[in-house]
Amino acid sequence: MTSRPYILAETNWNALKAATFDLAVLPWGATEAHNYHLPYATDNYEADALAAESARIAWEKGGKVIVLPTLPFGVNTGQSDIYLDINLNPSTQFAILCDIIEVLNRQDVFKLLLFNSHGGNNFKSIVRELGLKFPKMFISLSNWTQVVDKYSYFEEKGDHADEMETSLMLHLHPDLVLPKEKWGDGASKGYKIKSFSEGWVWAERQWSKISADTGVGNPHRSTKEKGERFFTDVTQKMGNFMFELCQADLGDMYE
Ligand SMILES: [Zn+2]
Repeated sequence: MTSRPYILAETNWNALKAATFDLAVLPWGATEAHNYHLPYATDNYEADALAAESARIAWEKGGKVIVLPTLPFGVNTGQSDIYLDINLNPSTQFAILCDIIEVLNRQDVFKLLLFNSHGGNNFKSIVRELGLKFPKMFISLSNWTQVVDKYSYFEEKGDHADEMETSLMLHLHPDLVLPKEKWGDGASKGYKIKSFSEGWVWAERQWSKISADTGVGNPHRSTKEKGERFFTDVTQKMGNFMFELCQADLGDMYE
C-alpha cells in the first residue's frame, strides 16, 4: 500500500512540511451495536471509506483536500443501557471541535467539512456556535446518508443497520458481516402518539425499547452490488462538492 497524500493518517512530514491545503474533512462516526450482524464500528468504516474515496475524486481534479482521522465515538445518549455503546456528549464534541479548529485556524486551513456518519451526531447548533468563535473559518456539515435518495437504491425503510448499511458493509468489509442466518429483522416500534411519526415533534427514542436486535430497518434484501452502486454515486457527488469547496472564494460565496 502506498500512502495517499490526501489522508493525514497515511501521509508524512516529508510530504507535508511544504504543503498547504484548502479544505480539511473531519469524518465523525460512533461505536455502537448495529443489529446482531454488523460491527460496532460500522459508522466509522463507512466514514473512512466514503470520505477517502470522495477526497480522492476531489484530489484528482486538483482540489487541495486533507482527510483527518475519523473520530470513533459519537452521541449515544439514547443507548445508555446497550452494552459498550460508547457515548460522547454533545458538549464534549464541542470541546473537541474547538481544539481541532484552533489548529486549522492558526495554520490557515479555513475550510472544514464535518463528514457525519452517525444519526445521533447533530452538529448544527455546535457549528453555529463555532462560527462565532472562529469567524475566519468556513465550517460546513454533511450527512452522507442524505447525499442521494437512498430509496432509489434500497427497498426497505430503515435508519440503523438497515438494508443500506448492511449492503454498504457487504461491499466494504464483507469479512466483518455475520452470515445471513444471524441477521435480525430490524423491526422497530414508534411512539404511540402519532404526531412524533409525522416529524413535527421530536423526542429521543430509548433504543432498547424500540428494537430487540438494535436494528431499525429490515436488512434481508441487502446485497454487495447495491452497496457498491450507492457507494459510487455518493462518493462521486461528494467528491465533486469537495472540489467545489476547495476552489470556492470565501469572500464571494453568494449569488
Ligand atoms: Zn450506522
